[in-house]
Amino acid sequence: MKFIDSHTHLYLQHFDEDRSAVIQRAVGQGVSTMLLPAIDMSTFDAMTAMAVAYPKHCFPMMGLHPTSVNELVENELTFVESELSTGKYIAVGEIGIDLYWNSTFADQQKDAFRRQLRLAKKYQLPVVIHMRDSFSEVYQVVKEEATEDLYGVFHCFTGNEEEGRKIIDLGFYLGIGGVITFKNSGLEKVVANLPMEYLILETDSPYLTPVPFRGKRNESSYIPYIAQKIAEVTNKSLDEIAEITTQNAMQLFKLTSSQ
Ligand SMILES: [Zn+2]
Repeated sequence: MKFIDSHTHLYLQHFDEDRSAVIQRAVGQGVSTMLLPAIDMSTFDAMTAMAVAYPKHCFPMMGLHPTSVNELVENELTFVESELSTGKYIAVGEIGIDLYWNSTFADQQKDAFRRQLRLAKKYQLPVVIHMRDSFSEVYQVVKEEATEDLYGVFHCFTGNEEEGRKIIDLGFYLGIGGVITFKNSGLEKVVANLPMEYLILETDSPYLTPVPFRGKRNESSYIPYIAQKIAEVTNKSLDEIAEITTQNAMQLFKLTSSQ
């Protein structure tokens, strides 16, 4: 069985002590492809070092995370664009709007998001979108910027069925993570009613750890727990979920089977 973890921050310091063991465990569970979303310049070197150390397994993205948008946003965006021009990245991400942690820079977040969507179109890359307490804001910007060249995933989707369908109608995928295993999240019912062709798997490690490890550090080898939950609620086999979601992620990120 083969899985893709489409969103994992294994380059963060949480994994400094045992990073290669974490990769080995993931590969051992069939999770041999791990996509690394960027955050900002402060974590860039660690992300790059990891992509260089594990070129068969780890593929970096480039982008400015909305919670890292502050008065230094112009420096950050200049850096994002110069990196994207090297052609080394698999996607523009993670980008978006987060009004949960702090809304001081809400306008700048929206502007940075829009400009990075345009960069994705320019460099013909998928986008990986982070939204928190911001569905209507994110949806509005994506809709305004929508063209044939704009495509991607709403990562860590935890919305309702109507929101899920609106995203799919824009041609975007939904990234499903550990929240689906949480008791009372309600996400499993939503996912069961949405078309499988638009679902991809992610851990968002080290955060959002699935049951039965909830509360501990998350890692990419836990992807099968998320897949198993989806299998249960859709009455499919784990094999089928692995195959469909891997296919979806390969298509979205233009991965070849050797990756
Ligand atoms: Zn993330």
